[in-house]
Amino acid sequence: MPGMEFFGAEERKEVMDVLETGALFRYNHDEMRKGHWKAKDLEAEVRKFTGAKYAHAVSSGSTAVAAALAAAGIGHGDEVIVPPFTYIASNEAVIYAGGLPVFAEIDENLCLSVEGIKKALTPKTKAVLLVHMCGAAADMDAITALCKEKNLVLIEDAGQAMGAFYKGKSVGLFGKTGAFSFDFFKITTCGEGGLFITDDEQAYKNADSFSDHGHDHIGNNRGMENHPVLGFNYRISELHAAVGVAQMRKINKIRDAKKANQQYMKEKLSVVKGLTFRPVPDPEGDSGTFLNFFLPSTEMAGKVMAEFGKSGVAGCNYWFTNMYHFINQWDHFKNLRSAAPLAIHHLGAPQDYNNLELPKSQEVVGRLISLGVRATWTKKDMDELAEKMISSIQKVIE
Ligand SMILES: *Cc1c(COP(=O)(O)O)cnc(C)c1O
Repeated sequence: MPGMEFFGAEERKEVMDVLETGALFRYNHDEMRKGHWKAKDLEAEVRKFTGAKYAHAVSSGSTAVAAALAAAGIGHGDEVIVPPFTYIASNEAVIYAGGLPVFAEIDENLCLSVEGIKKALTPKTKAVLLVHMCGAAADMDAITALCKEKNLVLIEDAGQAMGAFYKGKSVGLFGKTGAFSFDFFKITTCGEGGLFITDDEQAYKNADSFSDHGHDHIGNNRGMENHPVLGFNYRISELHAAVGVAQMRKINKIRDAKKANQQYMKEKLSVVKGLTFRPVPDPEGDSGTFLNFFLPSTEMAGKVMAEFGKSGVAGCNYWFTNMYHFINQWDHFKNLRSAAPLAIHHLGAPQDYNNLELPKSQEVVGRLISLGVRATWTKKDMDELAEKMISSIQKVIE
């Protein structure tokens, strides 16, 4: 519960700048806005922090993923490899783009694995939508090499991985396009918002136009702008962007505190025999938002969660039974139940979603518990939490 932990005077100041002028719209109205351009400032902060050449703020992480797919040229009829463990927005974005999601296996790193992607490849595979889960990067050297070899477009959903790096490079910059979320639960939040990033100028232009009805944003007469492509309204408001600006200016502080607390809790929990931790390819690059650990079996993980409940351990996520993060609970998705007909209904699903075999993902997510790391914990908070967690876990595994 990161960004929201550090909410105060800085956010209020940025929002007041907007309220004092009344310029709630991110484009034009130069004379009324008195020099305040919050969406542009947010984009500049994100470019500075990630090193991206281009950033474009939008209304949510979900619309950032939609923009990332569109800007990378992925749409109707394209087969896209996706993970069964993600926030469901990633896979909804593929469906609504008219694409065909193909599920592949993840591994203990909680992200799509190279072996998983290889097994899911078909002659029609066009792209990989890689999701950096739980605050740390996937195995990027191996995945980028495979995408290059097989000529696949790589798109990164870094919705929950702002602040994660791999060998010094920010997630979101390894493929053609990338997306972040600034919703209420992310490391930096603006209530509702998202960021598209890329190093590719044309992809940036596409995302910029796609997220605002095709506008090219050249000149100062909005009604007379050209429209190089079709788009829709995925704009962020200046009020939301203002909060995001203040949050991005705190990200190093939040990230440092989280990383330190994550490490402290990891050392504490390391005394438990039989407990293992997520292998992160580049531990330095972990954003610190979660401490991810595994029990020896799914059954034990379920029992540990029950013990946590009894002893009042808060902040642990068990994704295996979560309705939005793991495929087992996505019956609406698997049966393509929608309010209106979709492209996939006409084109046909590329896999039998009700009979998928993903034993590795089942086993990994079944054994996984993710502790949400707070930046504001004191040493005393952590000592007490660790003690409760250890005794609960030991009741189950010893
Ligand atoms: C949060 C999240 C999203 C969606 O972001 P919203 O801002 O809530 O729309 C997409 N993908 C992942 C991986 C996420 O964690």
